[in-house]
Amino acid sequence: MKSLTVKAKEAALIENRIIKITLTNSLFAIYVFMGKDKDYILSENYCSCPHFYYRIFRKNPIVEKRVNIENSKCYHLQALELALEKDKVRSIYVDLVTMREILLEIYSMDKSFILRKLVMR
Ligand SMILES: [Zn+2]
Repeated sequence: MKSLTVKAKEAALIENRIIKITLTNSLFAIYVFMGKDKDYILSENYCSCPHFYYRIFRKNPIVEKRVNIENSKCYHLQALELALEKDKVRSIYVDLVTMREILLEIYSMDKSFILRKLVMR
């Protein structure tokens, strides 16, 4: 089971799925996990996938109960961590309008076609 997860993580890396999108002339950046069918918005400790949500909020309904961050990492966050570690993150720079459109596409259509076009360049 464990080796399967590692294999999947390595596969994600090989396919260049982690994209860092930085807003030009600013320090603002987000990470996107570019999946086959869906894109997920990531930061070092947040992922927009339902799996992450379930682990953080559903399994820990009592706020006082400490959330074990290590156990809360979904596949995408594990892939991000590994990509950062191995310096395999792909970086692109966009203006505010483009950033907004990418995010809007991910929220409304589950994946960004603009991002795909930018990465294809
Ligand atoms: Zn995730």
